[in-house]
Amino acid sequence: MRNLKIILLITVITSIIAGYTMQIYVPEKKLDERVYLQEVAPDIKFSEKKSNPPHYKSNEGIVAFNTYDITPSIRGYAGPIKVLLALSPDGEITGIKILEHKETKNYVHYMERPEYLKKFLGKNVNDTFEIDKDIDGISRATVSVEAMARTVRESSRIVASNVLNLNVRHEGGKETFSTEWIIYILIFSLSFVFYFITRKSKKHLRIRDLSLVLSIPVIGLYLSSPFSILHVFNLLMLRPSSAYLWYVIIISTLISIIIAGRFYCGWLCPFGALSEFIGRLPFRKWSIPVETDDRWRELKYILLGLISIIVFTSRRVEFGNYETYVTLFSFHGNYLTWSLVVITLLANVKIERFWCRYLCPVAALTGMLSRKDSGYVSRHDCPVGNKPMPLISECIRCNRCYKGSE
Ligand code: SF4
Repeated sequence: MRNLKIILLITVITSIIAGYTMQIYVPEKKLDERVYLQEVAPDIKFSEKKSNPPHYKSNEGIVAFNTYDITPSIRGYAGPIKVLLALSPDGEITGIKILEHKETKNYVHYMERPEYLKKFLGKNVNDTFEIDKDIDGISRATVSVEAMARTVRESSRIVASNVLNLNVRHEGGKETFSTEWIIYILIFSLSFVFYFITRKSKKHLRIRDLSLVLSIPVIGLYLSSPFSILHVFNLLMLRPSSAYLWYVIIISTLISIIIAGRFYCGWLCPFGALSEFIGRLPFRKWSIPVETDDRWRELKYILLGLISIIVFTSRRVEFGNYETYVTLFSFHGNYLTWSLVVITLLANVKIERFWCRYLCPVAALTGMLSRKDSGYVSRHDCPVGNKPMPLISECIRCNRCYKGSE
């Protein structure tokens, strides 16, 4: 297993270097804005692209532009959301099309629909574009929707002022104060305190169930932000989000790995929680020989290695999106991904924490980075079916078997 982890680490580093330096990439569909001008302003003939700020202008005074040219620093969950906008001479939005984004499709599919984008039409550049007031919010895609509203508002005001010579409001629209990152910090801190309590005393082991129960509605359904391998891919490819929640999830998970190994898997992962509760149903579990179980556990590292090669060399994060919880908590997928969700959940009836044990890329990553702790010896009711004296990379820190507790 140690050799496998070393190979995985070398694979990831080599793939990142290859992706950066050798330009091995799968070309994305080349973006030609001019092709889409007809979609945002039908039957209008535009000039060549002009500068300061970059825009196209028609004889009728209609202006079209790519918001990314004007406000490149506004980012959604996984990078900028590039929008092609058309403005009338009096500063009204008359056409809109999302050109490109790298947000997780499962979460933002509704945002891309024409019926949703229509809500921006007719808005004036001096409107505030407030979410849930001027523009509908989309649950499970708050960060992306806010980023799109901001990029539309700020870029259109700059163009209206500099190209159309209109008077525009200079104060930003009222930013929606996001409480999501605070909620995440609260649930993380609470669970971390519980973790240390259960490490001290076995009398309180049941409080872990409270963290697991909370993680499903809060992290899974409300925040829709389980820690995902996509966070790591975006981070390593230097494509950070501008959302606090994104940073909070990454930093808290990193801290927890350094201090408590796979704490996230055992206490906060909503898919892990769901799997564990299904696994507690009173059905006899399959007895899997230790050697077979060990061999199958290596599969998650191999999968993570393969996916890393594909993602880093192609520089396309979406190729790494095979996590079942993304489908489940975004409520969006196809027949194949939904089948995978159902199979991986039902499998827990016979094999404890089936997905976490054999397939989860986050389990592989957090396991690989876990520090040694010889206090964990496993016991008959280990929630991940660990053998006695397990590898620390397979322990999700439920603390049931921790030797140091009374
Ligand atoms: S090895 Fe011990 S602490 Fe780790 S998951 Fe199993 S029972 Fe829990």
